[in-house]
Amino acid sequence: MSAFEDTLVHQGQRRKLALELQGKGIASQQVLAAITAVPRHWFFPKDFQSFAYRDAAFPIDHGQTISQPLTVAQQTQLLALAPNSKVLEVGTGSGYQAAVLLEMGFEVYTIEYIRPLLEQSMQVLSQIKGQIRAFHGDGSKGLAKYAPYDGIVVTAGAPVLPTELIAQLNEGGMLVIPVGNHPQKLTMMRYTKLANGEIREESFGPAKFVPLKGEFGFEP
Ligand code: SAM
Repeated sequence: MSAFEDTLVHQGQRRKLALELQGKGIASQQVLAAITAVPRHWFFPKDFQSFAYRDAAFPIDHGQTISQPLTVAQQTQLLALAPNSKVLEVGTGSGYQAAVLLEMGFEVYTIEYIRPLLEQSMQVLSQIKGQIRAFHGDGSKGLAKYAPYDGIVVTAGAPVLPTELIAQLNEGGMLVIPVGNHPQKLTMMRYTKLANGEIREESFGPAKFVPLKGEFGFEP
């Protein structure tokens, strides 16, 4: 079987997964449609593709993980992006979250700290429709060259709010990021840059992520 096959069985498993996520509180039809469309098994190591449609995180290379589908759906829903928005993802990992954002028609920038992971994910993302703009580097500082963004999503846990990410948001733009003093004890946060320059802060419950690396991360 080719690595990029998408059978009727896979498609059925995705419809079931989307229903499961709806039952867990994902209300956005656009997010559920993207989860239904993107072949998550392509982002898995070949021998473990049968795990792709469980609502669970899964280890990928270099000690990292592909996020749980519920987490991907929640973070994407929290971004509340208008059609054609420009979005930055920090932490490409497997590439799955980027593929979900691409499927929704956004202009997607993604940055990954671990170069071989980025190279691996690019092989898969090249099979997905839409143009991905992928970069290697320390995304805890954002990606200033292409700023401002309508939304930024960070898919690793941060010890503090990286202020450079706020600076790279458009007015009305939102940053969705898990923050806390331990990667296993984080809170999913959303920061909105308001017209008067103030930042609205909202929290959405506990979260667990791999640690954000780099200048504003937990580790170098
Ligand atoms: N979004 C990913 C997916 O869909 O598979 C989940 C990625 S995993 C939970 C978090 C990723 O963030 C890892 O690949 C890790 O290497 C990356 N990362 C950690 N710190 C980073 C940083 N400062 N800049 C860019 N990527 C970072």
